[in-house]
Amino acid sequence: MTPLTLQEFTALVSSFQDEAGAAIDGADSAESLEATRTKYLGRAHGWLKDISAKLAQLDKGDRAAAGRLFNDARLAVEAAMESRQGALAPARAGITLADPTMPARRAWKGAVHPVTAVIDEMIEIFRELGFTVALGPEAESSWYNFGSLNFPADHPAMDLHDTLYISDDLLLRTHTSPVQTRTLQGYAPPIRVLIPGNVHRRDPFDASHAPTFAQVEGLVVDEGITFADLKATLTHFANRFFGSTKTRFRPSYFPFTEPSAEMDVLCGVCKGSGCSVCKQSGWIEILGSGLVHPAVLDSAGVDSEKYTGWAFGMGPGRTALARHGIPDIRILYDSDVRFLQQFAR
Ligand SMILES: [Zn+2]
Repeated sequence: MTPLTLQEFTALVSSFQDEAGAAIDGADSAESLEATRTKYLGRAHGWLKDISAKLAQLDKGDRAAAGRLFNDARLAVEAAMESRQGALAPARAGITLADPTMPARRAWKGAVHPVTAVIDEMIEIFRELGFTVALGPEAESSWYNFGSLNFPADHPAMDLHDTLYISDDLLLRTHTSPVQTRTLQGYAPPIRVLIPGNVHRRDPFDASHAPTFAQVEGLVVDEGITFADLKATLTHFANRFFGSTKTRFRPSYFPFTEPSAEMDVLCGVCKGSGCSVCKQSGWIEILGSGLVHPAVLDSAGVDSEKYTGWAFGMGPGRTALARHGIPDIRILYDSDVRFLQQFAR
């Protein structure tokens, strides 16, 4: 047996490692990589086998160091083989590797819908005043939607042209006011609730009308509640919501309140001098309100001799339009991400 020095063995191992490494890097397909594996690591005829056979030609004292050298080289070549195989695998599955210089896919940032943002803000302001939130069904009986709220039997709102009926007695609520009756039936005064929800009307879908839209309603019932409470609370709300502003109350009519009033705030665009947003009036109407009609309290089983109350209702959709200067209410309901993205924070 020809003797071999440790130096010669080291040179052999290092040329094996260099050649195998270059061959692995050069393999451009799974097939050529497999051929490289057979050539260098093959158990039957590979280079590795030849080198391990040479260990016996070394001095006994050098064999331990040579063995470690040999093992390290084998592990390094096996690792390079593994990594190259990983890189070639997608190509083998018929998938081309993406160009790493391509720009990353765009990440979409979520946003609170402007109408939801208005509702949340209203709830927050009224929560500070001791109001809680009450909810009710969107499919209602006509008694809850009209009868309990003092609508006369021949009121035009009950007409098929204005209300979406599911059956003779079941309809899609036209306002959130039926929740007033449900709250009065379920809880004893004092009551302070805010009622947000969707309502439905047989309206055309145009720039200023939507057949389904959000409403926020408020109800206060207790002993000794007067119109002064209504005015003070709603004025406070307007100043919080719109920033320091002026308000005015105009007489109005609703079947379920008496007296009734609409509240206007000073136009935020022209500050009262008149512009196209406020139709030259200098004021923007934001809500309807009034003292709860005694008949409404009575029909819910609340003693109208003992208790009084006030209520209001407003449209957060219209408010969102005014706040952001949006010209067409349909944009709010289009679910167009380009529009909604503008509200991402
Ligand atoms: Zn104006």
